Amino acid sequence: MSEVRTRFAPSPTGNLHVGGAHTALFAWLFARHEGGKFILRIEDTDEVRSTEESLAAIYNGLKWLEIDWDEGPDVGGPFAPYVQSERLNIYAEQIDRLLDSGRGYRCFCTPEELDERREIMRARGIPPRYDGRCVDLPDEQVQTLLAEGKPYCVRFRVEETGATVIRDIVRGEVSFANELLGDFVIRKTSGYPTYHMAVVVDDYLMQISHVIRAEEHLANTPSHVQLMDALGFERPLYAHLPLILGPDKTKLSKRHGAVNLLDYRDQGFLPEAMRNFLAIIGWSAGAEQEILDLDELIAKFTLEGVSKSPGVFDLEKAAWLNGEYLKAVDAEYLTGILLPVLREEGLFQDDPSDERMAWLIAVVDLMKGRTRLLTDFTTWGRYFFTEEFIFDNKARKKWLSREDVPNRLDALAERLSVVESWAVDTIEQAIRGLAEELGVGAGQVIHPCRSAVTGQTVGPSLFHLMELLPRDTVIARLRKAAELARAGQMEPVASVDGDV
Ligand code: GLU
Repeated sequence: MSEVRTRFAPSPTGNLHVGGAHTALFAWLFARHEGGKFILRIEDTDEVRSTEESLAAIYNGLKWLEIDWDEGPDVGGPFAPYVQSERLNIYAEQIDRLLDSGRGYRCFCTPEELDERREIMRARGIPPRYDGRCVDLPDEQVQTLLAEGKPYCVRFRVEETGATVIRDIVRGEVSFANELLGDFVIRKTSGYPTYHMAVVVDDYLMQISHVIRAEEHLANTPSHVQLMDALGFERPLYAHLPLILGPDKTKLSKRHGAVNLLDYRDQGFLPEAMRNFLAIIGWSAGAEQEILDLDELIAKFTLEGVSKSPGVFDLEKAAWLNGEYLKAVDAEYLTGILLPVLREEGLFQDDPSDERMAWLIAVVDLMKGRTRLLTDFTTWGRYFFTEEFIFDNKARKKWLSREDVPNRLDALAERLSVVESWAVDTIEQAIRGLAEELGVGAGQVIHPCRSAVTGQTVGPSLFHLMELLPRDTVIARLRKAAELARAGQMEPVASVDGDV
């Protein structure tokens, strides 16, 4: 096989959807696996809906996932330009070739006329398609209409009989009856080419070997290959990726969670976890293995491993995977990713000292084994950074509203204020010592203490997290919780999540 060249060809008309990111990832992984090239091409032939913001969102989304491209609008390449609106003369040339050969023709039907005729077809139970009214307009009539300045589009004359057979790497042979296609528009009234025209010309001229794209484009493929054949272009190989569904097996939509890729960054996902998650939707490496780092993904990715049946976008699985990645990554690297998230919440200063950074890395190291999302650090890990954290209802109910607890918390505060040094073992000794003196199990001091200091009943090792908080802070929290409890303010409350 000659060089593998795949492309991602987004239309900049919105955010980078997770489905788009999935397509980009698969095309990229295949190119990297094969040692080929990956091309980014911007398909902005929808003059009305294409925007600069959307273009920026595409770049940012791909960069977040660390998907890089060998050729594209910003990096250039041998087949530049890579933005379709900058290639209009190229499409015009090919449209002229079709007009000359008779496979293209001018259509003067107005949108209203087309609608009306489609309605009639529908009413008669015929699948609506262009009825071919302008296909054989006499040349003189065409010239007159042109001279009158009547607007027109250009249509492609499809094969009327027989079938178009697509050999798709994922789906096998798929056959489409030609009579259902209808002569489609290749140049709009505005003079712009349609998606069908531009995609065919560019895939050929950019020497794309494998068109890897979402299943929704399978139905466009017979039109594309007929155009290719008519232009004398060699067909690329096709691989249509399976649909992505929500866990309820309906088409993925906002009901299932965010569909904008970058929302997952903002929700606290690591790019490597998201990449891994997207890669195993509709593809498997064969074995049961679900956690695959980038090198493994590239080494194992084949189009044969892509499934025909729809993949499921299961957020629960995504969060689990993210948690596994958080456990495994280096604390210092994770701290770098976490910093903007903390700053966004006003929980960490802009210009920290080395000592403060070392402290943050230690916090991250302690917490990362227990978090599933980066945002867990700003929600339930909040107590590391601020006094503005809540006492959850479990902590209130189980420990903080108990009658004997305020005295116990005060006694502990007393003891901690006199321990010689502030370290894991001295803290542990103070807590266990108090329990012994009171004649209760250690848990009877540990649990109320954790509840008072963190607002929660679960978390990382209590002695270690206490060591990371300033002694004064811990003591103040113990005393405050005791005071609130005495004042009857530690009863479960409805304003806090969880059982009251
Ligand atoms: N611009 C098309 C889209 O965003 C690309 C389709 C294709 O890959 O051929 O859906």
